[in-house]
Amino acid sequence: MSFKELGLSGAVVKGATKQGYTVPTPVQKEAIPYVLKGKDLLGIAQTGSGKTAAYALPLLEKTQTNRAFKNRHVKVLVLVPTRELALQVGEVFLAVNAHMPIQIKTLAVFGGVSINPQMMKLQGTDILVATPGRLLDLVDNKAVQLSDVETLVLDEADKMLNLGFEQELRQILALLPKKRQNLLFSATLDAKVNAIQETLLDQPVLVEIQPEDPLEAAQITEQAYAVPSEKKGPFLRWLIKEQKMPQVLIFVSATQRADHLVTKLGNNGIKAVALHSGKSQGARTEALALFKRGKVTALVATDLAARGIDIEQLPFVINYDLPRSSKDYIHRIGRTGRAGATGEALTLVTPEDAHHFKIIQKQTKRTIPIKEMEEIDLKGY
Ligand code: AMP
Repeated sequence: MSFKELGLSGAVVKGATKQGYTVPTPVQKEAIPYVLKGKDLLGIAQTGSGKTAAYALPLLEKTQTNRAFKNRHVKVLVLVPTRELALQVGEVFLAVNAHMPIQIKTLAVFGGVSINPQMMKLQGTDILVATPGRLLDLVDNKAVQLSDVETLVLDEADKMLNLGFEQELRQILALLPKKRQNLLFSATLDAKVNAIQETLLDQPVLVEIQPEDPLEAAQITEQAYAVPSEKKGPFLRWLIKEQKMPQVLIFVSATQRADHLVTKLGNNGIKAVALHSGKSQGARTEALALFKRGKVTALVATDLAARGIDIEQLPFVINYDLPRSSKDYIHRIGRTGRAGATGEALTLVTPEDAHHFKIIQKQTKRTIPIKEMEEIDLKGY
């Protein structure tokens, strides 16, 4: 089944192909025809399944012939829980649209940065991707009108509700026209998501993509190394250099450790930036952009800051510090091997970590070989 057969026109198919989306993923196959038809939809799908394009492609298709008529009256509203996701989703719309003859204006807005530039940029916007709080601020400032919204997308609805955005959501829903298309995407169907889908969706189509083990889905090779604490730094540098890693995402357990490691790597000729919640939003966006553009070799992140980030063709993830939970382990290694590519996930295990690492393996139902590093000469690293 091709994108064309799903009902997308040549312009959108070309945009998708240029992004490397040649064959539709399962969620895209199931969702696209219904989104095009204007149906409400409940999509249970994880990040990594291609869910963003599952709504972005058909919504770009429809917006081609249905542009925003009045200034600042957006037609499509995509609500997301985090700034990182807002940027990422906005990028998918922009990147696909860049290859289409009709330029549709997409804007991503989120808090933590100055509101004025966003107010200016909202002029002429067709598709708005927003975090709930900032959207309400923009509405208060009369920078955007929601009375013409024809399609509402709630992406990562479970996370949005868990982060306590219920009240904001209710306020936003009250500003939307009653007659509209609603698309709700969530990784899980928990009680909160179920409650909201019942009030929001009208005879929805259910698209459920079973969560797959990222190991099977994405061909990630997992390995671990037994390393004494005091040798972790030199061993990490040895790994990066010895394996000629073009790029690597390194996970640490705390903000200060991220900054410290970035300095150490830099002193040893490995360009690195940190991504953690102690940094301003601007600095985080900049760090991620530098890494994505290949300007730095290593991105050193904490679990919280790395939630949901999507980096194409990331070949290596290193767990410099063990994750706290097995869920975090799965999330971390799932940053590599995206969309069918191969990836390697390497974990450093100190003697103190050994027991915890056994528990992680048991809970995630894997057996990860632990290599001893005695033979390696770390002098000079
Ligand atoms: P998402 O689930 O939206 O976070 O998408 C996960 C990743 O899959 C992103 O890196 C997309 O660029 C990629 N992707 C989405 N659709 C396709 C497709 N049809 N073929 C290949 N890659 C895709």
